[in-house]
Amino acid sequence: MAADSTPKIHDLAELSADEREALFRALPKTDLHCHLDGSLRVETVAELASDPKIRELAESLGYSLPTDTEPESLRKVLEPGVDCGSLEEYLLPFDVICGVLQTPETLERAAYELAMDCVAENVWYLEVRFAPQRHIHPGMSGLEVLRAVDAGLARAEQESGGAIDTGILVCAMRNYHESISHYHRRVRELFPYANERELGSNCSLAAARLAVDAKARGVERIVGFDLAGAEANYPPSHHRAAFEHCIDNFLNITVHAGEGYGPESIQEAVTYLNAQRVGHGTRVLERGPELLDYLRDRRVTVEVCLTSNLQTKAIASLEEHPFRQMLEAEVRAPLCTDNRMVSSVTMTDEYRLAWEHFKLTPKEIRQTVLYGFKAAFVPYQRRRQLLLSAKQRLRELGLGGAWTRHQETALEERRAQQAGVSG
Ligand SMILES: [Zn+2]
Repeated sequence: MAADSTPKIHDLAELSADEREALFRALPKTDLHCHLDGSLRVETVAELASDPKIRELAESLGYSLPTDTEPESLRKVLEPGVDCGSLEEYLLPFDVICGVLQTPETLERAAYELAMDCVAENVWYLEVRFAPQRHIHPGMSGLEVLRAVDAGLARAEQESGGAIDTGILVCAMRNYHESISHYHRRVRELFPYANERELGSNCSLAAARLAVDAKARGVERIVGFDLAGAEANYPPSHHRAAFEHCIDNFLNITVHAGEGYGPESIQEAVTYLNAQRVGHGTRVLERGPELLDYLRDRRVTVEVCLTSNLQTKAIASLEEHPFRQMLEAEVRAPLCTDNRMVSSVTMTDEYRLAWEHFKLTPKEIRQTVLYGFKAAFVPYQRRRQLLLSAKQRLRELGLGGAWTRHQETALEERRAQQAGVSG
């Protein structure tokens, strides 16, 4: 039978480290939670930050770029990594990155390079998210911002010969603050008597209208809308009008929630804002089983970003991460990078980390991969094609469906026996 000739992985622990690494790299992957501005190449930021014209524009818009633009010096700022003390510290590099992304050319290049980096490690489907308002100024409209990112992604799709499909998620910011961008500073000047909540709600509604309008004008990669930024004190309910506008216009919804604030934030995201996906959700267990059941029963997906959660101190250690509980409760929980540069990660790294820490079985690896394709915000027909291709590739890699289920039972029994012997 043909099935006999396919490889079969019994337990990833039986592979050598090199073989496992090759497997994680070869897996057909998605990255559903990836910020454009956190995922540039350090060398590109260094090159852009040393360009006098880019510096001049950034400074005229109120961004201050570092004077030392050598890649090795910039790396310390742009990749805070595990030494990072908090979410606030983790967000510091974004001001520099935003400063160099104020022209259509730089945005196009950033999007193109990000997608090509994904192609290099077999990410088949990428959703890039960012807040267009951080790039709007008198010389570049929101529509131009989105068209530039769309063009960069289109170039990568074409040059890679269709090795990757991409989508764009438009982010609104939860919190209003003048420090966020030139746009936010201008809004403050124009509405001196509005309070921060009013400014925040109106900025997110404007972002939603931009997303809908840009899609109608042909930026077809826009597949959804997101809420990002500081979570505590800025509940999803402040942004209902923005999300209602997106839902009325059939945009998909994902919301950062349960990272910097408790489970109430997740609950509001899925009830008030109709989120189909939740970013992070690290505090999902704090509401008991009801919230997990709700997510599973409604097929709400939790975008899991292990490395980022460690770095922002959303969790103190991976022992605290609910990934294992989500897997066991059959909540859709695909792995994602969050910020490839700022967190110094790839999807391959995330699979390695998840396997090392959570001891994923072949079935769980397969399931995690497939959750990513199932939760992709692409139209049904394309999603189905991607899912079928991913299943085929998983079979070729030794992570087949029926065979894996059978082996899984054997593996679980073997482990139970071993635990019995050692216990
Ligand atoms: Zn994020």
